[in-house]
Amino acid sequence: CLAPKVAVVGAGVIGLSTALCIVETCPSCSVTVLSDQFSPNTTSDVAAGMLIPHTYPGTPIHVQKQWFKETFTYLFAISNSAEASEAGIHLVSGWQVFKSTPKEELPFWSDAVLGFRPMSEAELQKFPQYRFGQAFTTLKCDSPLYLLWLEKRLKATGVQMYKRKVSDLWELHSDYDIIVNCAGIGAQQLVGDEKLFPVRGQVLKVYAPWVKNFIRDGDGLTYIYPGINRVTLGGTREKESWSLSPDPGTTKDIFDRCCSLEPSLREAQDIKVKVGLRPSRQCVRLQREVLSQGGVKLLVVHNYGHGAGGFSVHRGTAKEAARLVGECIAALQGPSSGAKL
Ligand code: FAD
Repeated sequence: CLAPKVAVVGAGVIGLSTALCIVETCPSCSVTVLSDQFSPNTTSDVAAGMLIPHTYPGTPIHVQKQWFKETFTYLFAISNSAEASEAGIHLVSGWQVFKSTPKEELPFWSDAVLGFRPMSEAELQKFPQYRFGQAFTTLKCDSPLYLLWLEKRLKATGVQMYKRKVSDLWELHSDYDIIVNCAGIGAQQLVGDEKLFPVRGQVLKVYAPWVKNFIRDGDGLTYIYPGINRVTLGGTREKESWSLSPDPGTTKDIFDRCCSLEPSLREAQDIKVKVGLRPSRQCVRLQREVLSQGGVKLLVVHNYGHGAGGFSVHRGTAKEAARLVGECIAALQGPSSGAKL
C-alpha cells in the first residue's frame, strides 16, 4: 500500500484542517474530502471563530491546553505573515467581564493567550454592571475566509473535494483504505453516536466597523467579537434544539444584551442572522476504530464533537487525527497486515 487512499468526511473547520494535516504528515497519501455541504453552508461558517477555549468535561485539561496551544501557535504564525488577510486570521484584544468574581480567576488557558491580566479600574468603568474582568489578546479566524483558505491550500496539494452525502461509512470501503470522520453534528446519524447532541446557537453579524475590541460576558452567553468585515453578536446555547431557522425574539434579545455591553451598537447596520448547531459531547471523539463486517475490516479515525470550541482547538485535534491516520497506515503496511488491516 504505497499511496494509501484516505477519505475525509466533512468540510467544516475540522474536516478541512484534518485533511491538511494528513497531507502535511503523509505526503504520499492520496486524500479526498467528501462532504454534504461546503462553505458557506457549514456550522463552521456561522461561528465567530474566536480562540477562547470551551472546556470539555471528559478530556484531561492538559490535553485541551495542548490542543489550544498548538492551534494558537499555528494561527499566530499565519497572523504574522502576508497570508493573514486572505486566511482571515487576526489578533484581537478585549475584555471578559464578570458580574461577580469567578471561582477560577486564572483559566487554564490564561498563559496560552497573550498579555492575560486582570482589568484595571479605569477599564472596568466602561462596564458599570460588572465587578471583575480579564483583559487579553487572542486570535480570531474569520469564516468563511479561513475555510476558503484551507480549501485553496488543499486543492494546491492535489486534494480532491466532492459534494456527497455519506449515509454509511461502509459505502466508502471499496474506494478508500482509511476513512476520517469529521462530520460534526452529522456524526449522530452517520455513526449513530447517541452521546453527541446539538447545542443551537443564534448570532447576528452586523456592520459596526468602529468596534475594535472584543467584549465577552464571563457567563459565555453574551459576546461581541469584531472580525475583518463584520462584528458577531451573540448568542444562545439551546441544548437538543435542531431548528436552523432564526428566531426573531432571540434576535432582539441578543441585540439588546449586546447594546447594554456596548451602547454604540445601537448604530450598527445591515444585521444578518445566522444559526448553527454545535456538535456537542462530553469530550471530542478522537480515536481509531476498526469496523468489521463479515470478516471485512474498515479503518476509521474519528474527529468530531468539538461543541462550542472547534476553532479554538482545531489544529491540535487535526494533528492528533493525522497521527492516528499514520498508525492506520502502519497497520496497513505492517508485516501481518493482510489485505485490509
Ligand atoms: P461542521 O462545520 O458542522 O462541519 C461538518 C461537515 O460535515 C459539514 O461540511 C457537513 O456538511 C459534513 N457532513 C455531516 N454529515 C455528513 C454526511 N453524512 N456525509 C457527508 N458530509 C457530512 N468555536 C470556537 O472555537 N470559537 C467561536 O467563537 C465559536 N463560535 C460559535 C458560534 C456559534 C453560533 C456556533 C453555532 C458555534 C461556534 N463555535 C465556535 C463552535 C464551532 O463552530 C464548532 O465547534 C465547529 O464549527 C465544528 O466544526 P466541524 O467541522 O466539526 O463541524
